[in-house]
Amino acid sequence: MSSDSSTLFISDLHLDPARPDIQQAFLNFVANQAKHCRALYILGDFFEVWLGDDDVNAFNSAIIDALQRLTMPIYLMHGNRDFLLGQRFCTSIGATLLNDPTVIDLHGTPTLLMHGDSLCTADSEYMQVRAMLRSPAFQTDFLSKTLAERQVFANNARQQSQAHTQQHSQASAANGSSTDIMDVTPIEVERVMAENNVQQMIHGHTHRPARHDLIVEGKPAERIVLGDWDKLGWFISADANGLDLQSFAIQADK
Ligand code: MN
Repeated sequence: MSSDSSTLFISDLHLDPARPDIQQAFLNFVANQAKHCRALYILGDFFEVWLGDDDVNAFNSAIIDALQRLTMPIYLMHGNRDFLLGQRFCTSIGATLLNDPTVIDLHGTPTLLMHGDSLCTADSEYMQVRAMLRSPAFQTDFLSKTLAERQVFANNARQQSQAHTQQHSQASAANGSSTDIMDVTPIEVERVMAENNVQQMIHGHTHRPARHDLIVEGKPAERIVLGDWDKLGWFISADANGLDLQSFAIQADK
């Protein structure tokens, strides 16, 4: 488990009022594993959807309250679902917003942190949508709408995204290939690791928790993928001795 000297990473909790069991698991995580860690990194898709920092409700407030109680540094990176998390939210939990990608010194090892969606370059349709959603023009326009209007937009976007994912998995099944199209593109992984001069990277997004050995510019490297929180919760604990990818059971609500 974690200790004072460990750095913790989580991603893809997809916190959502529809899953009180995951919210409770996160509150327990904050009160237990995270309580004495050295730093906490949240690498995107912390929330299932984020309509803007002005969306104040009891569900979000419980999460903010729990994070406020933590005294160690908290770092937050946007995911593809909560890319509208803004400065007001970060200030409320005492977090620093990280660019995607960011390189940190993780107990002596330069480590590249990403959410992971930008690595899925084979999904060209998604990459186009991503570029649109991340543009300042779209975001300014979106945040100028009422919360009710934003909710309608988010519901539509979610349906389109689900249809897109289904199409891809049907197409993949039909031509006998696996679900590769929604996973990272290996050559993009190597490119971005080489560009950032690292042998270690941590990301989420794909919901395929694993540790992958690879070679980057002739040297051994590792890509560690966080899992999403569903029946299991996932985290990485890192200290001077190395890094552990761990999971625990999430108790369903009775
Ligand atoms: Mn994601």
